[in-house]
Amino acid sequence: MRYGIFSDIHSNLEALEVVLHAYEQASIDKYLCVGDVVGYAANPKECIEKVKVLAAVTVAGNHDWASVDLFPLDYFNPRAAKAVIWTKTRLDAQERCFLESLKLTFTNNDLTLVHGTLDDPALFNYLTGIHSASPTFELLNSSLCFVGHTHVPGIFIQGKAKRILYFSGSALELKKNNKYIVNVGSVGQPRDGNPAASYCIYDTDKKTVCIKRIDYDFKSAGKKIIAAGLPGFLAERLAVGR
Ligand code: ZN
Repeated sequence: MRYGIFSDIHSNLEALEVVLHAYEQASIDKYLCVGDVVGYAANPKECIEKVKVLAAVTVAGNHDWASVDLFPLDYFNPRAAKAVIWTKTRLDAQERCFLESLKLTFTNNDLTLVHGTLDDPALFNYLTGIHSASPTFELLNSSLCFVGHTHVPGIFIQGKAKRILYFSGSALELKKNNKYIVNVGSVGQPRDGNPAASYCIYDTDKKTVCIKRIDYDFKSAGKKIIAAGLPGFLAERLAVGR
């Protein structure tokens, strides 16, 4: 089974289309989305439509839930809050229904999905380092957990002795006795200094996880953000991946 796992699209249709096109050449059997389909950029409706059709499972992100009043706006910085409020005005009943239906976690025989952390997933805490990775490893029943939320791709590895290591590389062969937390990065608003869209492929037969990057037209996405009356900073940051 080859999974296509992606996260944090944030209404960036230009980035999503390029990622989905790249996936088409990668023989994906099943698509999974780790949340934040909406928020920040100008195409929430189009991104919901595409993810809804494609992804077998989507878990809830903080922007998804905030856009349907399931998560308070107090947790957002002013520019992010402005984008949530704008997004709300765009959604129709069906799109709201889709976002409301999203659950916080998902587990099957191969993997677990959560937007932030497995400890208190409804708080959408940031899994930013070894310390914050520890409770998620404790609660993880499968050997592999995929997360998003920080928009920084990378892999946390817990070996037999429970020591946690961070691997910032992009491809990894999975070892039997290890547990892994894979941050798949962000399709629509990368924050690791690389503006290219990030997406992940997990091959259960080959036992490999690969995080890939692909350039997209961030200028067009940025122009739409400005035209929609959203904060200019949200367009500028796409060009620098911050
Ligand atoms: Zn996000």
